[in-house]
Amino acid sequence: MTVWLLGDQLHPEHHVLDGADRVLVIEAAAFADRRPYHPQKLGLVFAAMRHARDRLREAGYAVDYRRAETFGDALDEHFTARPGDDLRCMRPPSHGAADRLRELVAARGGTLSVVHDDRFLCSPEAFDEWHEGEGFRHEDCYRWLRRREDVLMDGSTPAGGEWNYDESNRETPPADWSPPPVPRYEPDGLTRETLDWVAERFDTWGELAGFAWPVTRAEALDALDHFVEHRLAEFGPYQDAMVGGECALAHSLLSSSLNLGLLGPREVIDAAVAAYERDEAPIESVEGFVRQVLGWREFLRHAYRRTMPDLTERDLLDRSRDLPPLYYDAETDMRCLSEAVGHVHDHGYAHHIERLMLLANFALIYGADPHELNEWFHFGFVDAYHWVTAPNVLGMGTFATDAFTSKPYASSGNYVDRMSDHCADCPYDVDSTTGAGACPFNALYWDFLDRNETRLRGTGRMGLMYAHVDRKSASERAEISERARTVRRLAREGRL
Ligand code: SF4
Repeated sequence: MTVWLLGDQLHPEHHVLDGADRVLVIEAAAFADRRPYHPQKLGLVFAAMRHARDRLREAGYAVDYRRAETFGDALDEHFTARPGDDLRCMRPPSHGAADRLRELVAARGGTLSVVHDDRFLCSPEAFDEWHEGEGFRHEDCYRWLRRREDVLMDGSTPAGGEWNYDESNRETPPADWSPPPVPRYEPDGLTRETLDWVAERFDTWGELAGFAWPVTRAEALDALDHFVEHRLAEFGPYQDAMVGGECALAHSLLSSSLNLGLLGPREVIDAAVAAYERDEAPIESVEGFVRQVLGWREFLRHAYRRTMPDLTERDLLDRSRDLPPLYYDAETDMRCLSEAVGHVHDHGYAHHIERLMLLANFALIYGADPHELNEWFHFGFVDAYHWVTAPNVLGMGTFATDAFTSKPYASSGNYVDRMSDHCADCPYDVDSTTGAGACPFNALYWDFLDRNETRLRGTGRMGLMYAHVDRKSASERAEISERARTVRRLAREGRL
């Protein structure tokens, strides 16, 4: 029997390894030819796999590390060496992946048993027992998991008295605030060699220079300690803020390590909660972080599982426009989008509000094809996998489905102005909706509500927004529509 560890299952103590002495790891390159992945993402995944191989060997496992173009090619080699082998792997979260792997193995005369994925705290069976039917609400799931896992609970009540400290998580830092330090993990020889190979072998999008992501469990643990010690306390209040020239602020930057299996969810939650119990971080910071890991990460994984393949095959708002070129070249005078796309291009990362309220929001109100946006997130971010991006982008980001959000997260430039310092340095006027210098978000926002009125007016909490729409005169609406057309044309031509 051989344990097959997939490239995002790199924890040295995954339960699937229990009792095993032989491990198969397949480094297949051809998948990365299908999209122009960010080179830091490819470098991170391949370097982390190679480092995990070395650590497993040091721990005494016999590791068959097979480099090939496809899984099929590597399995051909494996079953030539070990005819009829029985393989065991953890269930990959991407839709249909376990069945595809089983078929590949069976076609070569082997068997594959698939076991629980311990990169998540909530199993499919537990979630399905808790929740039947359609329609998924994050807050219900989050409270259920807080109780079930006994995280931040005082008996049966939430620590601090509230389930959710969202209200305290919307501050912007003062002008003289300096973001706390961010650790850098300089590439060692093996990582450098991997990055050079990535640069040579693949057509990519984004900047490879400056790569500093944790690629080993030891580095990921150090990144966790560093976050808890230096940034967690300020994470809560400023988690929705955007500051010019700053990519990380006080965010944890741990998602790439969590999604590769270098860190487990329980240990990062426990580390944050322990800081709260030691009085080193306020409840609004620790609860906000726990909500991301125990709430959103677990919830979206199951919402994805339960809504696929429908999730990626439909669009409630029926959009088909190409994503404007600024998503690929960051060439725009819009300060906010230039910053956010620049962060993705340079680091393969932007924080959650840049993702939701800039990158997704603009595509939403512009009317871009949400599935192209999903692809863009998938190849552009170091922490992106299909199970993460599809529900985030198609659900929360663009309202292509209403399965897990009751309204689109659409907003005008007003939100950006409130939560960032971008508008003060932008050539566009955030207080204007029409006219040549008006903030593009504004006309697109009102035009989006107008164009989608039939679908949205009665949806969830959209009544207040349509009360504002109703106060606009016919001539105002016509001017907005004209400005929105101009904005879309300029965006399409790369001149916004
Ligand atoms: Fe972005 Fe508009 Fe503000 Fe410029 S004015 S930074 S385009 S929200």
